[in-house]
Amino acid sequence: MEITGRTRFTGVFGDPVEHSLSPAMHNAAYAALGIERAYLAFHVAPEHLHDAIGALPALQIVGINLTVPHKENAVSMMAHLSEEALMLGAINCVVNRNGELHGDNTDARGLERDLRESGVEIAGRGVVVVGAGGAAASAVLACTRLGAQRILLCNRTIERAAKLAHRFTHLYRPLNGIPIDVEGLDKLADAAALTDVALVINATPMGLKTGGFARLAYDAAPADCVFYDMVYARAPTPFLAPALASGRLALDGAGMLLNQGVLAFELFNNVAAPTAAMRAALMSALGRA
Ligand code: NAP
Repeated sequence: MEITGRTRFTGVFGDPVEHSLSPAMHNAAYAALGIERAYLAFHVAPEHLHDAIGALPALQIVGINLTVPHKENAVSMMAHLSEEALMLGAINCVVNRNGELHGDNTDARGLERDLRESGVEIAGRGVVVVGAGGAAASAVLACTRLGAQRILLCNRTIERAAKLAHRFTHLYRPLNGIPIDVEGLDKLADAAALTDVALVINATPMGLKTGGFARLAYDAAPADCVFYDMVYARAPTPFLAPALASGRLALDGAGMLLNQGVLAFELFNNVAAPTAAMRAALMSALGRA
């Protein structure tokens, strides 16, 4: 790809951001379509987020993805929010429309698409979501749309899980209306919590840097229960390794990353994304090509 005076930019703000696989995906898409655009990773510390977002119109940056820890903080900096961003209370995309910043969130739609494409069936059944941040909110919304009958939300900080459950069961009741129970992480070790559950989603980075994943009653889950880690890595994560060992289907977040990226690309560029090129670039970056 050649950068010229006409090249327009998109990118991602995160802290840290060096590990991001989004540049590989989006730049492969620009190359496949022959569009004179490029995607950059910007290391933006939380105290600089306001200035960095404020600079987007002046720099004519077309669109920006947001990753940890900016997704919730950036919400108040938008001129417009999509209905989905409002519902989730977090954004992962900022689209610059003639100098006006529009916030959207493609995480729930990305997860929903990945679960559908992976053949995960949860209609009429229970789901367990671990976590209570923006990613967990996306999981709750995706599972609701896929017809889950009830959701158990387990988080280290139980008050945060209660807030998230309240957001969906009260503020957005007409859209959802399914029961969401809230517990601490110790509930995951209770066999009764896993009976008749079709899907367990990890929406935390637990066990990646230090310690292991919380104690979880893997064997109590039905044989067809799917374990889904939003985290993606070269080796099975601490959450997925025991699921694989107990013969369950284990999926990591690479498919969600791809699909949220495909949807973001389309928002930024107003053109159908070359999904195969983005998938190939992602798989190559993950060492799975
Ligand atoms: P967040 O808002 O910071 O929430 C983090 C969540 O993880 C909270 O529930 C937090 O619990 C919990 N947590 C963090 N460290 C923990 C620990 N050591 N032990 C137990 N719980 C811990 O982050 P987020 O935006 O929701 O993202 C969560 C994860 O999903 C990240 O790893 C992110 O990379 C991943 N993700 C992946 C995709 C994808 O496309 N595959 C998309 C979005 C996010 P407390 O409430 O108690 O602090």
